Amino acid sequence: MSQDYDLVIIGGGPGGYIAAIKAAQLGLKTACVEKRGTLGGTCLNVGCIPSKALLHASEVYEDASHNMAALGVNVTGVALDLDVMMAHKSKTVTDLTKGIEFLFKKNKVDYILGTGKITGVNAVEVTLNAGGAQTLAAKNILIATGSDVIGLPGIKIDEERIVSSTGALSLKQVPKHLAIIGGGVIGLELGSVWGRLGAKVTVIEFLDRITPGMDNEVSKQFQKVLTKQGFAFKLSSKVTGATLGKSDVSLTIEPAAGGAAETLNADVVLVAIGRKPYTTGLGLDAVQVKLDAKGRVETDKHFRTNVPNIYAIGDVIAGPMLAHKAEDEGVAVAEIIAGQHGHMNYDAIPSVVYTWPEIASVGKTEEELKASGQTYKIGKFPFSANSRAKANHDTEGFVKILSDAKTDRVLGCHIIGPDAGTLIAEVVLAIEFGASAEDIARTCHAHPTLNESVRDAALAASVGAIRM
Ligand SMILES: Cc1cc2nc3c(=O)[nH]c(=O)nc-3n(C[C@H](O)[C@H](O)[C@H](O)COP(=O)(O)OP(=O)(O)OC[C@H]3O[C@@H](n4cnc5c(N)ncnc54)[C@H](O)[C@@H]3O)c2cc1C
Repeated sequence: MSQDYDLVIIGGGPGGYIAAIKAAQLGLKTACVEKRGTLGGTCLNVGCIPSKALLHASEVYEDASHNMAALGVNVTGVALDLDVMMAHKSKTVTDLTKGIEFLFKKNKVDYILGTGKITGVNAVEVTLNAGGAQTLAAKNILIATGSDVIGLPGIKIDEERIVSSTGALSLKQVPKHLAIIGGGVIGLELGSVWGRLGAKVTVIEFLDRITPGMDNEVSKQFQKVLTKQGFAFKLSSKVTGATLGKSDVSLTIEPAAGGAAETLNADVVLVAIGRKPYTTGLGLDAVQVKLDAKGRVETDKHFRTNVPNIYAIGDVIAGPMLAHKAEDEGVAVAEIIAGQHGHMNYDAIPSVVYTWPEIASVGKTEEELKASGQTYKIGKFPFSANSRAKANHDTEGFVKILSDAKTDRVLGCHIIGPDAGTLIAEVVLAIEFGASAEDIARTCHAHPTLNESVRDAALAASVGAIRM
């Protein structure tokens, strides 16, 4: 059976599903092909949402166990019910994936459950999950196939004792010792979950720092706080082998620069060294869609591949692997295909680490500004001087705003502290609007709020701090 579409999207993650809804709203006859059996992609099924459900639940457990007494709330008999915690996570995921199916129906997007393969510049063949095949004729094709876990040579992920992030979201019991290979965002978030629930956590990182790419000052503070929480770090170290024992895994670790190997035993090992674009079985060779040196689908700034009616967005193309980046590209590409002028501002994409405290950043880091020769001012404000943070007994961290030394335009913001992921939004807006630090400083902020720290940092960067 063949059917004609203006747009066929392969992949129903945040990039693909948002593009599908937007395209349908703009009048394009749209189909979205997804093989997973549920919509929402990595983010909703095995990424952002289940990890945040567990981060929240484990934080509540940690608070009840250790932090509430300082506020005069004595809780006794706190006990972990991991099955209930996991059930909460699974229900959250199921409810949200069903929500997207509802939105597809509402907006008349055809949801096709199966594996899509591009067989011609206007043809997508779908091997249906239910059996059989269907060919879709497509004026335009959008590749939104996302990314997959990067493995380590010689280390086989079994998702039980040697796990990827997917297995780490569904462990059946709290490991006594969790070893995490990779000191990036995903490893540290999942390490926080299991650490709060009782695991000893050791992070092995090849570089001499955690969270590469993050503003250095924030990253250093972050490592200190995590160490206080019980994380152990083995930096400048590489894992060269893993042997499964009866009940544990033995890792061989060498200094990154070479030298004597040591052994570390853990009952679960999480491999979290990054993700790679996913194009397996997509048929890109048949239509000669070009990939770049890192295996990402190459596109121009209008998300067009070298084949004019084939587009790509999200984790499978260049840029930060973030759900909101994929979503915004989804909107922009749908507008472009519909003849409008969608665009992305890659200077204004926030990124957040949902640990405690949270880390959030947008724009340039201080190191990037130094490297580019840009002259800049710094405004900093600690949460220990913020009245709301003090009242909440949650004063770890600071806000750091970087602005152009000549024009005062905001160039970057880096926050480590309570609810940083929410606080960063006003600075993202400021950057989007080309605002100055003084614009933020002169904007009335409600008192007492954590947001006042952003204003105080902006004051420090522009007309002068009042509360410091
Ligand atoms: C543990 C974890 C936590 C994360 N937390 C966050 C977070 O807090 N915030 C954030 O912004 N990002 C987070 N991310 C990253 C985020 O999940 C991704 O950036 C986002 O999902 C990318 O969206 P996408 O649409 O490009 O691809 P994906 O979400 O990967 O979706 C692609 C979809 O395409 C499908 N597919 C692939 N090939 C085919 C084919 N041939 N036919 C049919 N279907 C196909 C796949 O099954 C998949 O469902 C996290 C990731 C992980 C792993």
